[in-house]
Amino acid sequence: LWNFLKEKFKDSLSKVSYDTWIESAVPIRITENNIIIEVPSSLHKEYWENNLATRIVENIYEYSSREISPLFVIKNENENANANGKQKSQSLTQKNAFRKDVLLNDKYTFDTFVIGKGNQMAHAAALVVAEEPGTIYNPLFFYGGVGLGKTHLMHAIGHQMLLLNPDAKVKYVSSETFANDFINSIQNKMQEKFRNEYRSVDLLLVDDIQFFADKEGTQEEFFHTFNALYDDRKQIVLTSDRLPNEIPKLQERLISRFAWGLSVDITPPDLETRIAILRKKANAERLEIPGDTLSYIAGQIDSNIRELEGALVRVQAYAAIESRDITTSLAADALKSMLPSNKPTTLSILDIQNVVSKYYQISLVDLKGKKRVKSIVLPRQIAMFLSRELTANSLPKIGAEFGGKDHTTVIHAYEKINHALTNDHQLKQDIEEIKNKLK
Ligand code: ADP
Ligand code: MG
Repeated sequence: LWNFLKEKFKDSLSKVSYDTWIESAVPIRITENNIIIEVPSSLHKEYWENNLATRIVENIYEYSSREISPLFVIKNENENANANGKQKSQSLTQKNAFRKDVLLNDKYTFDTFVIGKGNQMAHAAALVVAEEPGTIYNPLFFYGGVGLGKTHLMHAIGHQMLLLNPDAKVKYVSSETFANDFINSIQNKMQEKFRNEYRSVDLLLVDDIQFFADKEGTQEEFFHTFNALYDDRKQIVLTSDRLPNEIPKLQERLISRFAWGLSVDITPPDLETRIAILRKKANAERLEIPGDTLSYIAGQIDSNIRELEGALVRVQAYAAIESRDITTSLAADALKSMLPSNKPTTLSILDIQNVVSKYYQISLVDLKGKKRVKSIVLPRQIAMFLSRELTANSLPKIGAEFGGKDHTTVIHAYEKINHALTNDHQLKQDIEEIKNKLK
């Protein structure tokens, strides 16, 4: 039955729609009167109920002459990750709706967007808005950290809308461009033209509106643009790095209008999603990368998709320069210089103790212990000195990490080494070398 229903939907829905709504749904069981269908989020549930439920009833009737109506349950968070796997294999068949005059990036489409737990809801909302602009979620507001796909989704909405309606007027601007256009229009006495341009669109996409903070006049103008479009039932999509009410100096009336629609956050991708994104990019670039290497890269870069892409480019370039195949060890080499700046590693006291004890070939136990022989006391003092200099730990904390010594012992060690450094050349060299090893 489910396959029959899926075929029906396949015939009547667009490819992205089908992948988004149907592929993510799982039939759980069927009773005398109901079919229980599990969907990934409240937004999916709402969409099914409003748009697809009656078709289910009709199609089941056609199949079995029984009257069965669907009930939707939302999959619990933990199971989410697995089911998404299905959606990752969207094909690249969608036609490219790129048109020069709309300034949309032709790489940012629904086809190239990988769905994961952190962006599933945003993706679904984006699709609804692209297919039914101006009616359901207006404005649609995406918020979340940098490099998580807000701009990508925004462009995808624009492409999809143009695909469905090539005559639609789509305008994408950053909030700075909006502000500049507005200011220029005043200076050149072209306000009429500015208004015509912004108020005649079917879809207005304004990116990064946190930069409206502090721009009184621009906010005022945007308020009127918003009202004009909203009253005409034109779709508005906005993004920001935070919620509207957290944007400093954003006018109350804008905040309240933004709340009329739907706000969805995008959170950082989990490991599985990061691997899927890398795999998709690698395929698009026709790169041969073993699965464990993709996992390695995805494991190293864990916050942001833009950096993930940067890492892949870097690995690719490194492989080309070295004329080597892409392997995990090559990826490790390629990323080595990238990782410290990407992830400011906080040095721990234990890191320092490990490096110092190795350098002087004494045991960690001795380094932290109470032995008073010179060959141990000096390394111990050096380790204390470096712990004070290179970490943010307090003196008592450092003392505690050295077998429970008093903070005055740490001060003493610090001052002694600091003083010795002014005339002991060998000591200076040793410490430089230890610092290098710590990097
Ligand atoms: P933001 O606007 O949130 O700072 P972007 O939309 O510019 O982030 O995304 C940064 C980069 O990561 C872009 O190249 C984009 O294509 C890519 N990206 C983000 N999310 C995804 C995703 N889910 N699937 C594939 N690529 C993604
Ligand atoms: Mg962006």
